[in-house]
Amino acid sequence: MSGLNLAQLQAVHYTEGPCLVLAGAGSGKTRVITHKIARLIETGLQPRRIAAITFTNKAAAEMRERAAGLIGRQAKEVLVCTFHALGVRMVREDGHVLGLKPSFSILDQDDVTGILKDCAGGTTDLATARQWQWTISNWKNQGWDARKALAMAQDDHERSIALIMQRYEERLSAYQSVDFDDLIGMPMRLLRHHPEVREKWQRLLGHVLVDEYQDTNATQYELLKFLVGERARFTAVGDDDQSIYGWRGATLDNLKKLPVDFPQLKVIKLEQNYRSTSAILRAANNVIGPNPKLFPKTLFSELGEGEPVRIVDCDNEEHEAERAVARIQGLRAAANPPPAWKNFAILYRANHQAKPFEKALRRANIPYKVSGGTSFFDRAGIRDLCAWFRLWINNDDDPAFLRAITSPRRGVGHTTLGALGEFATQHKQSMFGALFNAMLPAVVPKRGLEGLLEFGRQINDLEYRARRTHGAEDARAFLADWLKEIGYEQHIYDGEDSEKVAAARWSNVLEFCDWMAQRAGGQIDDTAATTTVAPTKSLLEVAQTIALLSTISEREQEQDMVVLSTLHASKGLEWPHVILAGVTEGMLPFKLDDDEGRQQKVTDDVAARLQEERRLMYVGITRAQRSLAVSWTKKRKKGREMVACQPSRFIAEMKLDAATSREDPREKLRQLRAEFAAKAQAAPHTAS
Ligand code: ATP
Ligand code: MG
Repeated sequence: MSGLNLAQLQAVHYTEGPCLVLAGAGSGKTRVITHKIARLIETGLQPRRIAAITFTNKAAAEMRERAAGLIGRQAKEVLVCTFHALGVRMVREDGHVLGLKPSFSILDQDDVTGILKDCAGGTTDLATARQWQWTISNWKNQGWDARKALAMAQDDHERSIALIMQRYEERLSAYQSVDFDDLIGMPMRLLRHHPEVREKWQRLLGHVLVDEYQDTNATQYELLKFLVGERARFTAVGDDDQSIYGWRGATLDNLKKLPVDFPQLKVIKLEQNYRSTSAILRAANNVIGPNPKLFPKTLFSELGEGEPVRIVDCDNEEHEAERAVARIQGLRAAANPPPAWKNFAILYRANHQAKPFEKALRRANIPYKVSGGTSFFDRAGIRDLCAWFRLWINNDDDPAFLRAITSPRRGVGHTTLGALGEFATQHKQSMFGALFNAMLPAVVPKRGLEGLLEFGRQINDLEYRARRTHGAEDARAFLADWLKEIGYEQHIYDGEDSEKVAAARWSNVLEFCDWMAQRAGGQIDDTAATTTVAPTKSLLEVAQTIALLSTISEREQEQDMVVLSTLHASKGLEWPHVILAGVTEGMLPFKLDDDEGRQQKVTDDVAARLQEERRLMYVGITRAQRSLAVSWTKKRKKGREMVACQPSRFIAEMKLDAATSREDPREKLRQLRAEFAAKAQAAPHTAS
């Protein structure tokens, strides 16, 4: 247990009851969790009886790695995963109690909006469907079902959404499908209403640890309470100043409730920050100062004063990107050996802000990756293939059926599909089930029917083989066969005008197959959603959790690249050098009186929203270890226009010393030199 201070040790050694570690950024909360896992095992708790819940799959993978560093192989058996992945496992094991087959499907956002549109009669536009989805999701996160939503509706608008929600619920149960919110709501209901299930899980889990506790929502808190039961052996760590998911239903009430619901709660505060220099920490403390305090905190650093925090004034977004690149080059030129690329991060408010930085980095030949953007699984082509998997796993999954049968198209037109859909509804069957109904030929034209039956046979045959495919080698061979059989490569080339684009898409598909095969071989496991710690998995086992990976995590390896990330996705992470970009009034804080980019107002309370924006700034500042630059632009693009801008109020709130926060002229010179050198190096490439 080296590398822990007294307060951390106290948190790690207190294992008999509920424990809350409440502390500011970089104070070693996450480190407490990893060490506590090791400690619990040391005291004799079996690894499989420990659950550590993280905010993202990526964080889970990292924690598993760290835990393995401390305790070796046993770490593999600890259940380290997100609330959602835990939910998958619980629903798979016990969902039958709620009438769900273990082979249920997990719907992604597209499926959900598609179903909602359908529920409303089909003439709805996407934006409206998204609004509904947002509202329904919020209701679900409060633990409401359609009946409750209908009873609570304030006006006709809400009543109409509640009615759509009712139909949506019916569809989902017919499709044997769940959405992301169900992955929390269903386990919660299972534990609440079914004592035998509750006892089983409470017996299994000897200790539950939760990281980033401040960003849990009401349902997750309920779930946690039921999981730990009366014995209440759990450890939650969090920081109320870093709560940045209020807009998605996370609530600080969960922090306030903890001492009330668990009077024996042991609260431990950590005060030393091990991440950032004093200059950076002071700016962070100053920014968060104006927010009301839920719990008073102090935070100090012993890493020395360090470089002053810099403010970078830019003309527009392109200029801002150029200056960021120059800064990175300058910092590298100033050190010998130059720091690796992965030591630098550029953070911003919204995904679309990455564009100018990507362009500038590419021009300068600097390797980078965009984290938190469109994930691998969202790319065209991959989603279609995933639909096939879903249909193999769960024949009742009508949305997957519709996607699979049209990619590639197989001479089955809309009329045929329409007739099939109507027939299936009449006979209370899934579309796939209806294919084999003896009465179907009476309602579907002959040509279409042949296509349908052919598809049905193909699905059955492939499913049979996929079920028996175990391990990496088999999986790789099977996937190659499958793609050939359905003519997928041809389908991709037919669908793209540009050969280059088609080739890129096809190579995505191959990469995806390789990824699947590796998982089937047990080489990688980042969902922890399997019931057993098996060396290999069947291809279908791997496939069931893909939907989960697609939005909650990305597959990422440690690569030597500059990181571009949204502030939200940067939570819990740290980099030696950080550039906080777009710290412009209207971007951060986000323009508070209109809702551009945000799908729905969760709260109309402007003050509360400003506080959340301030926490977002605080999260951003505290990602930096050694150097921090904050940039803003005098103009920015808004739609097609350029609008004049002011620096964010948060810049003034950092209370920097005006004399040092401007760029050091020597720094500027170094940057210019570095830029020049890089240009000279890049020139031969651009010429060829
Ligand atoms: P955040 O609020 O951003 O999630 P955190 O409180 O979880 O931060 P950690 O990520 O656990 O903080 O720790 C921050 C950094 O400090 C890490 O690099 C970690 O290794 C280091 N650290 C934590 N505790 C100690 C300690 N006692 N001695 C030395 N280094 C430490
Ligand atoms: Mg942390």
